Amino acid sequence: MTPIDQKDFYDYLAAALEKNGMSDFARNETLSQALYALTCRMLEVNEYMNLTTIKKPHDIIMRHYVDSLTVAAHIPEGASVLDIGCGAGFPCLPLALARPDLRITAIDSTEKKVRYVNETAAMLGIFPDTLTAIAMRAEEGGSVGGQLREKFNIVVSRAVAHLSILGELALPCLKIGGTLIALKGAKAAEEMNDAKGLGVLGASPARLIPTPLTAPDTGESDSHALVMMDKCEKTPKIYPRKYAQIVKKPL
Ligand code: SAM
Repeated sequence: MTPIDQKDFYDYLAAALEKNGMSDFARNETLSQALYALTCRMLEVNEYMNLTTIKKPHDIIMRHYVDSLTVAAHIPEGASVLDIGCGAGFPCLPLALARPDLRITAIDSTEKKVRYVNETAAMLGIFPDTLTAIAMRAEEGGSVGGQLREKFNIVVSRAVAHLSILGELALPCLKIGGTLIALKGAKAAEEMNDAKGLGVLGASPARLIPTPLTAPDTGESDSHALVMMDKCEKTPKIYPRKYAQIVKKPL
């Protein structure tokens, strides 16, 4: 593995966070050091475990860290947060480092990714109260009597499923008054249009918050948006359905 130039990493990270409206994070030295350590760890483990296809430090900063941290401004102090399908820890790891006030539960159906996230969190000094990952399928944890059902103020999720599917996995896990924040790309508006049936789960209509990711050196922006839905009423007990049904007949 090629060593990562530490000064270049810190300079680019600070510039990227600043450019994307996250000046508080840009000035947080503890956060920068932890994200550098996370980058080294992820690339090292990536040599023998499939964690990420993004390997250049500047790309990791933009496409994993700045991207993950776009949700931070929308999460109230001390909130309970569920990250569905956390994979290699996005957005949960950067979020836990930047917002230690949160109580984040991260789930993934793949056990070895969950082990990696917990071990990495411990290595970075993140307390289990701030972030704990569990091997679990969202539709099982979110079913009536499940460990995740109506337990969270916020659900976040990136690159797991189309909004019409993700909504059925996520909305049952929210308390009334809670919010789903889906991190989406260029097709965010189209997905919202296809997911109008999610109202039956007790959710408000979705709203789109464009959060283009602008590289500090080139000034070029990647299309990126947050899709947010509030939980207004209890989810009927029949949801979430079995995964095969959710995918076969999305709401
Ligand atoms: N969120 C991470 C990111 O953005 O880098 C990982 C995205 S990866 C493409 C999708 C992840 O979702 C996989 O790790 C997969 O195991 C997990 N996943 C898919 N469906 C799931 C479900 N129903 N419940 C829990 N995890 C799920």
